[in-house]
Amino acid sequence: TGIRFVVSRINAKMDRELEPADFNAKHKFSFDMYVFSFLQYLFSKARQKANRVFRTGNELTPSAKYDFKFKDYAPWVFRNLRAKFKLDPADYLMSLTSKYILSELGSPGKSGSFFYFSRDYKYIIKTIHHSEHKLLRKILPDYYKHIENNPNTLISQFYGLHRVKMAYGRKIHFVVMNNLFPPHRDIHQTFDLKGSTIGRDLHEEDLERNPRATMKDLNWLRRNRHLEQGPMKKEVFMAQLRRDVRLLQRLKIMDYSLLVGIHDLSRGNEEKLRDKTLQVFQPGGDRDEDPSANFLTRTPSKMENARKARELRLTLKRERPVPIQQTAAKMPDEILDERKNLVFYSDDGGLRATHENGQRGEEIYYLGIIDCLTPYGIVKKAENFWKGLSNNRTQISPIPPEQYGERFINFMEGITMSKEEAERLEQARANE
Ligand code: ATP
Ligand code: CA
Ligand code: CA
Repeated sequence: TGIRFVVSRINAKMDRELEPADFNAKHKFSFDMYVFSFLQYLFSKARQKANRVFRTGNELTPSAKYDFKFKDYAPWVFRNLRAKFKLDPADYLMSLTSKYILSELGSPGKSGSFFYFSRDYKYIIKTIHHSEHKLLRKILPDYYKHIENNPNTLISQFYGLHRVKMAYGRKIHFVVMNNLFPPHRDIHQTFDLKGSTIGRDLHEEDLERNPRATMKDLNWLRRNRHLEQGPMKKEVFMAQLRRDVRLLQRLKIMDYSLLVGIHDLSRGNEEKLRDKTLQVFQPGGDRDEDPSANFLTRTPSKMENARKARELRLTLKRERPVPIQQTAAKMPDEILDERKNLVFYSDDGGLRATHENGQRGEEIYYLGIIDCLTPYGIVKKAENFWKGLSNNRTQISPIPPEQYGERFINFMEGITMSKEEAERLEQARANE
């Protein structure tokens, strides 16, 4: 509700040039039951206007539990950023609408951040630490300039920075950013790569338990994997990566990763298709709790849902395995419209593998630099000291930003070598 309010508010204004003061701007709003009734009225009008079929509902039922304070940071800057990233303003609002959108993504990791997906899977909301919040505000002008000069940047796309405080609660900062992974394709393997080898290992037993768990640098090396891009795409990719890392080094940021999601075309999309069907047509499910049903269907009755679910399951059983083209045709593809202009998202929202000889591979990569708001501050410096005592100091994860960036680039140089290139190099070394 907070996001919807502040984004509508800024979108309603006449466009104007950005001013330096826009980068420091912050606006505080208080929401209570009275404001809610009013908002509810406004949103219902807006919905009628958008002429979309929605549940006429009570998603904003006035109630004491809605008392909260909401702070919006640099709204003009983020409005401009969303435009640069080619987001449609109405679409953005729709994706991030109130209670029926958010599903939590697993439990928080080491950092304690929480992740939420928007209902359509396009956006991620990540709660961030106060130090990350401060950093983003500080670097916003540099980030903005970088986006302007590098439309193909691999760095996370930030769409909004906000803070929420519930009555008697803590202040929680969060960003809205792009989900690197597409809604319409299964990601068969995920790697989070930093170029550090100490402790950067997902236990293979954990992988057996959860085949989709995020793997790390050592898992990548152990599998002798290669990001096969062919010489041309590789050059473009590495050039952009270098520019992005230069920025992060200059801003004294470290601890970021290259996130790599791999879709295997030969395995196709079956699981996503199945998940989706079950999710949308949950038989007998509580309609209020089933967000997709509200959004995609005209409040079907439980019986209607159950019938559709049965039908779809039967169809799926008959069709399995589903050919790629067929499944792709059935999947929503709006996300691609926004992304296909960008180099690294041009092949079906990602980057199609290409072998050294120019032949197309069987994989699509989804790539980006994530978690790039960690300053090299006291905590990381202390970590560097302690971990460095018992390990090789160049290989531990927390090292100063300058070195972190160099190591990161070197590692990515290595993994973007084709199999043949790597073999030739090894041969040459052996001959020396
Ligand atoms: P830590 O600081 O302990 O590394 P964190 O809470 O800062 O963790 P991230 O490193 O940002 O979390 O992300 C954790 C995982 O969430 C990633 O490895 C990835 O699987 C997923 N993830 C994060 N950002 C994105 C994104 N933009 N698109 C898709 N997946 C993402
Ligand atoms: Ca991380
Ligand atoms: Ca982090």
